[in-house]
Order: sequence, then structure tokens, then C-alpha cells
Amino acid sequence: MAINNSISEKTALYIQTEELYGAHNYHPLPVVLSKGKGSLVWDVEGKRFFDFLSGYSAVNQGHCHPRIISALIEQAQQLTLTSRAFHSDKMASYTQYITKYFGYEKVLPMNTGVEAVETALKLARKWGYKVKGVPSNTAKIITVEGNFHGRTINVVSFSTDPAAKNGFGPFVQGYITIPYNDLSALKDALQDSAVVGFLVEPIQGEAGVLVPDDGYLREAYALCNAHSVLFIADEVQTGLCRTGRMLACDHEGVRPDILILGKALSGGVLPISAVLADDRVMLSIGPGEHGSTYGGNPLACAVAIAALAVLEEEKLDKRAQELGEYFREKLRAIHHPAVETIRGKGLLNAIVIKHKDPQAAYTLCLALMRNGLLAKPTHGDKIRFAPPLVISKGEIDQAVEIIKVSLDVLT
Ligand code: PLP
Repeated sequence: MAINNSISEKTALYIQTEELYGAHNYHPLPVVLSKGKGSLVWDVEGKRFFDFLSGYSAVNQGHCHPRIISALIEQAQQLTLTSRAFHSDKMASYTQYITKYFGYEKVLPMNTGVEAVETALKLARKWGYKVKGVPSNTAKIITVEGNFHGRTINVVSFSTDPAAKNGFGPFVQGYITIPYNDLSALKDALQDSAVVGFLVEPIQGEAGVLVPDDGYLREAYALCNAHSVLFIADEVQTGLCRTGRMLACDHEGVRPDILILGKALSGGVLPISAVLADDRVMLSIGPGEHGSTYGGNPLACAVAIAALAVLEEEKLDKRAQELGEYFREKLRAIHHPAVETIRGKGLLNAIVIKHKDPQAAYTLCLALMRNGLLAKPTHGDKIRFAPPLVISKGEIDQAVEIIKVSLDVLT
């Protein structure tokens, strides 16, 4: 398979224009996409790629899923935004649908993932003061090292990634950071009676798909429960079938006190996020205390119902589970010296690259791109492989062949 190093004038022009007028807060691969369908995307030259990032796991249902797009078009012709100053027919059907779907008493709809995280943190603090009885303005929330929950000042306040944090202080107080996957550190931190919540990703996605030990989530939940501390699961990336179950917490039979969803809640169509909890927690927040103009808009409600229906009807949890095992097995059979580790759950996977060149993972991503597969390094030496869950076994075979051939750049 030939590797073509050149970027056409057309592609270069799009990239230059974006660089000239857009902020430089990302470092994209030099590819300009203009079309997507299922597990595939096409660039402006008409070249086809396997999408192995899926919009950071937002496109679990595949690009432009016909059922989700129909729901979008149909609702867009009826009513798109009311604000929460008025009720909408779709808000009624969506709140009922999603709470029954996940088995919670209430939902609070937001837009982006980080807004849902903010919502969960505010909710935990309010609950701490109103229900747990923590003295005013002293509540603490336990977070873990290597976390990624988004980019607001509050959320980067407890990030341990210097790139996310440096130059953005002063930071928000009230967070305790402990190592990930460390139950004794959690036990110690829970001794503080001002702790109201434990915020955790069931698998750390941005950190490079770090899967904790079996039993970690179950034990952590039990410890939180014993200390009247809310177990808050950020399933923005791991949820909605990505890891082979509807929620990554399902692998351990854990039902979070607060569940945070985003990304694939719209199948990559709109920014839609949600916080789910039971009344004992959710009713701590009253009118005027939290909200968002677009949160729960009728268009988002219609899209989210369709996106959730697709996950269930197409049994994308089972598919992710089976294809994930198949994919990792095929990757392991490659045996390349630059691939130090292959890990993951369902179709949320990563390889860790070990090479003398610190840019090796990026170099490999460029080779993958030239050969027709899009993936992006995370934290230097890790490459996440997370295709849309509708990918077929045959497509996985082709993708593995591309990975195998592309690894030649690292010899
Ligand atoms: N939480 C997790 C676990 C994420 O992976 C992300 C994004 O990657 C977010 C929150 C933030 O989501 P958004 O970028 O939609 O704000």
C-alpha cells in the first residue's frame, strides 16, 4: 500500500484558511473531511477513511445515521427552541423516555459534556448542604489523577494535566485529588466529613484508555455509599455502548448516584448531554438555581430519543463487546516491536507506542491517515482506536491490515 506524502492544493487551502481565521486550540491531522456515513468519512478530495476516533466516541451510532437524521429533520420543521421558560411536548416525551431507559427518577438536560459535569458537581454540592448537612461553603469532591472531564475553569481546577491547566489560574477550591484505581487512597479521602461526591471516569479515555482493576468501581461505590458520599460517574466517553455494555459501570453492576452522559446521546448530531439522578439528589436544585437556554430544547430531545433507540434496536452494546474482542485479538497478532501495549474494553481501545522518536505516535497517525484510517494520539505515546460501533467485521479486518502496514514507518 503506497504512502502518499503530498497534500493537494485544495486541502492545503482549507487548512491555511482555518489556521488563519480559527483559534489554534487544536492540532488536527492534515485532512479536511466533508462527508460521513456509518464508520467511514471522506475528505474534500473524495478519499475514503475508516474513522477510528468517532468524534471522541460521539458517533457510536455511525455517521449520519438515517434514523437520527430523520428525527432531526422532522423536528427541525416543527419547533427547535422554546427555552425552559415554557414547556414543550418533546421535553415531556424525552424526560420520560431517558429516565425509564436508564432507570433514574429524574434527568437534567444540558448541551456539552463539560456542562453536564459542571451540573453534576453543583448538584453534589447542593445535596451536600441541603441533605447531608455539610456546613456552608465547605463541601469537597474527590477526583482522581489523570482525569479528563472537559475544559471549563472549574473542571480544569482539578485536572492533573499541565497543558489543560497552565496559565488558567486562579482555580476553584473544594477538590481532593487521589490516584486512580487506588481504593485505599479513596478510603482515606472519605474520612473527611465534608466530602460530598467522588467523580470518576469508569475507564479513563483521554488518559489513554486506562481500564481500572476488576472490582474497583464496585468497591469504590460501596465505600462512597458507606460514607454518604455520592458516586458520580462521568460516562460521557465510556457510556452508550462504547465499552460493550450500555454503561461502563454496568460491567460491575454499579448504579451511580449521579450519571453523566454526553457525546453519543446525539450520535454526533448535536451537543446533547444529561445528568441523571433520583429525586433524593436531583430535587436539591430548584427553579432558578441552574439551567441553560438550549438544554432540553425540542430538537435535542427528538434527536436524543432517536439516538438512544438506535443503540438499543441495533444492539450496539453486544456488537461493541464482540467486535472489541475480535479487534484486540487481531491487533495482538501483529506483534510489532513499537507496540508496547494493547488495551481496552469493547470498542474503546488504545495502543501504547514505544519508540526512540518521541513523535512516533503522531508519525504513525500520519501513516494511518495516508493509508485510509483516521486516529489521533493522546498524551504523546498513546493512540486511541474507537471506531463507530456499526463497523462491520470485514471493515475491522481491513482496518487492522492498514494498521499493520502503517507500522512499517516505525521500523
Ligand atoms: N467527560 C469526559 C469523560 C470526556 O471524555 C469529555 C470529552 O472528551 C468531556 C467530559 C467533555 O465533553 P465536551 O467536550 O462535550 O464538553
